Amino acid sequence: MVLEVMELLKEHLPLTQEPFVLSGDLNIGLVLVDVVNGFCTVGAGNLAPKQHNEQISQMVEESARLARVFCEKKWPIFAFRDSHHPDIPEPPYPPHCIAGTDESKLVPALQWLENEANVTLRCKDCIDGFLGCLEKDGSNIFIDWVKKNQIKGILVLGICTDICVLDFVCSTLSARNRGFLSPLEDVIVYSGGCATYDLPVAVAKTLGDAIAHPQELMHHVGLYIARGRGAKVVSEVSTKSF
Ligand SMILES: [Zn+2]
Repeated sequence: MVLEVMELLKEHLPLTQEPFVLSGDLNIGLVLVDVVNGFCTVGAGNLAPKQHNEQISQMVEESARLARVFCEKKWPIFAFRDSHHPDIPEPPYPPHCIAGTDESKLVPALQWLENEANVTLRCKDCIDGFLGCLEKDGSNIFIDWVKKNQIKGILVLGICTDICVLDFVCSTLSARNRGFLSPLEDVIVYSGGCATYDLPVAVAKTLGDAIAHPQELMHHVGLYIARGRGAKVVSEVSTKSF
């Protein structure tokens, strides 16, 4: 059934994707969205996968692969960590990624990023990382990072394709269009480096009022909406030019 629906979805919401080659010509920054245990590591919490999930594992692997490339080149990386105060809920989600717990830490494959000089880490307590970068004085850490590094393109990976990744991409595109993010031009979403969670409709029905969230479908829809808003969606990221 899901396979048939995927076929229909791809027919009616076709997503054209190009491969992307990293080269030193473009000032590019890597943005990693919430590659934390609470969303990625089996059994780590309320919103973590309950069993091995291929899409999530691939997203983690690709995040680690590209993070290594960026660190070798000393190119800038901006890594979000979902991180909540225990007394402040985030509806409609159950408690997750409480600050100071393992859930809000980067996954083991990315822990080493915390000690790298080219990496900016940002704990955020909301879905939209762009808003999560707002400081009390009105400044925005992400805008500052783009300007300080004179970034012209961002490559976005992470979880969830249709939630935190999508909201961050949409807000960033709006901010760019309003002139807040100069010199940023391109927002590039790597489909194979993104993942979302899986709650098939048959399982959702057994959970009362849970909203079904079939992984492949919602991943595709998230990418499709990102592209519709002006992001570039790329099918692979290679480094073969250097
Ligand atoms: Zn959260």
